[in-house]
Amino acid sequence: MARGVYIHIPFCHQICNYCDFNKVFFKNQPVDEYIEALGREMAMTVAKTPEAFTNIETIFLGGGTPTALSAQQIEKLLQLITKHIPMSSVKEFSSEANPDELTIEKLQALYNGGVNRLSMGVQSFDQSLLTKIGRTHSNEHVYETIQNAKNVGFENISIDLMYGLPGQTMEQWQDTLEKALALKLPHYSAYSLIVEPKTIFYIQYAKGKLVLPTEDLEASMYGVLMDKMEAHGLQQYEISNFAHEGYTSTHNKIYWDNDEYAGFGAGAHGYLNGIRYSNVAPIKKYIEIVMEEKLPLLHEHEVTVEEKLEEQMFLGLRKTAGVTHEEFEMKFNQSMEDLYKETISRLLEEQLIEFDTKGIRLTRKGRFIGNEVFQRFLVGE
Ligand code: SF4
Repeated sequence: MARGVYIHIPFCHQICNYCDFNKVFFKNQPVDEYIEALGREMAMTVAKTPEAFTNIETIFLGGGTPTALSAQQIEKLLQLITKHIPMSSVKEFSSEANPDELTIEKLQALYNGGVNRLSMGVQSFDQSLLTKIGRTHSNEHVYETIQNAKNVGFENISIDLMYGLPGQTMEQWQDTLEKALALKLPHYSAYSLIVEPKTIFYIQYAKGKLVLPTEDLEASMYGVLMDKMEAHGLQQYEISNFAHEGYTSTHNKIYWDNDEYAGFGAGAHGYLNGIRYSNVAPIKKYIEIVMEEKLPLLHEHEVTVEEKLEEQMFLGLRKTAGVTHEEFEMKFNQSMEDLYKETISRLLEEQLIEFDTKGIRLTRKGRFIGNEVFQRFLVGE
């Protein structure tokens, strides 16, 4: 049964140098047709497996950039969502947003349409770094948009930050963190830059034209991030996420709990009835298939028990609370301790995890090399 719904809006007015998401330039795209197709995909999917949609807790509009749409398009999209998705148990309805696109009109359309959480892509408060990574907004846009969002009625606002950016110094990162924390928001996410294939940064990196901070400096930036968030009373509840009490993101927790969710839109991924699936990514093809009253599936994969086990550890250990014995035994009918005996004892020796009567979680040391720790559960070392 799905706990959440993800809806992909693959349009952007700018293309960031580090981005490998499924997105295209907004201009000349069939945006209205795409919104129409989203409505049809939702209707078809819910009609096919209505029992999977009886307890939806969260909806997440991501992209691309949902705020690349006009206020009228946002209104239309939200009408279609509330028409096709059973909303009675939805508690959290989030939208990603770019600070320089979020007009008062769009904020009102989002708010009136039921969105109650905004996740804004700020990335940095340093203008030279913003330009370097291909973002078009300024700090003034961020301040003004947050104030406007509050005036419209939003209080659950999060911003995304990035570190490990080309040429970024520790001073610049500290300054960004201070400016971000001065906003006194209830939630912050911060990610290190990863140079992904098929991005502008990847080409620059391959040509030796991208100078990144050293691994040590990047690790120090992560340490400073954790310290500053803690000093401001924000609880780290996942490797990259920090929140005041009552403001953790339920939608993201669905992924980390390895629970099911429906994904709609071009290139969207979902996990329904034990099957992980992805949709076709090209926008025109997506629209064409859906308009023929067919589901736009590209891949479907029935998740094996072994894969579920691995995912439970891989995803669950991202949470500061880790993986509990209770949830593990309930899902798999066996004990985590028996299954991963050797891995657990080695990771304990290396002080990368904690293990107690509640479950397993990363130590602070483990959080710095989370991916390496997760790998050990994948290969069952
Ligand atoms: S990072 Fe966001 S705004 Fe930038 S290109 Fe990617 S999807 Fe678009």
